[in-house]
Amino acid sequence: MEFNRNISMLGTSASIELMQRAEQLRMLGKDVLSLAGGEPDFNTPNRICRAADKAICDGFTHYAVGRGLPLLREKIAEKLWKENDIKCSAENIIVTPGGKFGVYMAVCTLINEGDEVIILNPAWVSYGPIVKACGGIPVFVKLSYDDDYIIDVMKIREKITNKTKAIIINYPNNPTGKVLSANEARQLADVIRDTDIFVISDEIYERIVFDGNKSVSLASYREVSKNVITINGFSKCAAMTGWRLGYVVADDIVTNMMYKLYTHTITGTSTFIQHAALEVFNCNEEIEEMRKIYEKRRNYFVTELNQIKGLHCRKAEGAFYAWVNFDTKKRSEEIADQLLQQTGVVGVPGQAYGENKNCCMRFSFACMDNVLREAVDRMKKFVL
Ligand code: PMP
Ligand code: GLU
Repeated sequence: MEFNRNISMLGTSASIELMQRAEQLRMLGKDVLSLAGGEPDFNTPNRICRAADKAICDGFTHYAVGRGLPLLREKIAEKLWKENDIKCSAENIIVTPGGKFGVYMAVCTLINEGDEVIILNPAWVSYGPIVKACGGIPVFVKLSYDDDYIIDVMKIREKITNKTKAIIINYPNNPTGKVLSANEARQLADVIRDTDIFVISDEIYERIVFDGNKSVSLASYREVSKNVITINGFSKCAAMTGWRLGYVVADDIVTNMMYKLYTHTITGTSTFIQHAALEVFNCNEEIEEMRKIYEKRRNYFVTELNQIKGLHCRKAEGAFYAWVNFDTKKRSEEIADQLLQQTGVVGVPGQAYGENKNCCMRFSFACMDNVLREAVDRMKKFVL
């Protein structure tokens, strides 16, 4: 049986595999501490749950036709204007079942077989596979650990060919925790200005930033905004990973094109979930409360990890991951295995994000304080 070539060559998502593996080990009675999955440990704020309950009982259980609930898209447009300096209307927004589908829809709409998409490494595990699934060629630009992964536009320019259709960026970054500075954004804008190259800007962790940091939205640069597709959603900021709710923002021409694919695949994002999401805009206090807790956990976790001999951990500026460099020549997959065998702590090896030069691992600190404390205690006993 011959399957679609673009799909058969893919693996599955390393982070999802590890989340599942940790769960299976736990069910077998193994004492595992999973810091693998990138999802809030908090439950969704109560008022959003109550709104969903009400929406179901009120009969919002039919097909959601169109690009998404108009009122929800209006609220998103207002938020983008106020918080991200992105000028758009409800018509520029398509509500999707999760940000991940938004990335897929953008890539699938932009590229033809053999087109190239530049991805900055370290990169979230799904960008490369999404590009390949759509018949494209991921072209990786390796940013340097020693330069704090600051964007080097020269390296990007070197990789641009007449096949380059898009550049995917993700800030605050999963896995490094880096945010996009105004200087980097300006330089990126210069790269795509007066070209047909799009930037797909995945800003899913945008509300989770620390020390007063802000991650710049590339679509706020008016001279290139037509060439920027912004991806965002509710999974991380409002602890709604299981609801599957995100959105894509782009120029009319692009949204009209993406919408064709949307009607033939998704039809519409769950009606009662969209109604409940209206409540997210009344949850600023709850969202800020969770953010503050992540910041406290980051401070604790990073400080403790840096005291362990042979480990160096960056202070994430945003998102909820500790990106840890192990002082060894071993491969990160080997270290991840060794760590699990010796201590039961599960993290994601840096190789999954394309970091091959340094032995790095990603640990999520979106988990309870006692889990983090226990993980630190165990990692102190880890023999490299
Ligand atoms: N982008 C990044 C960088 C992520 O870490 C995630 C988490 N899964 C997503 C997109 C997708 O999020 P979701 O589909 O849950 O909205
Ligand atoms: N985004 C999360 C992570 O990176 C969830 C799993 C996934 O979608 O890859 O761990």
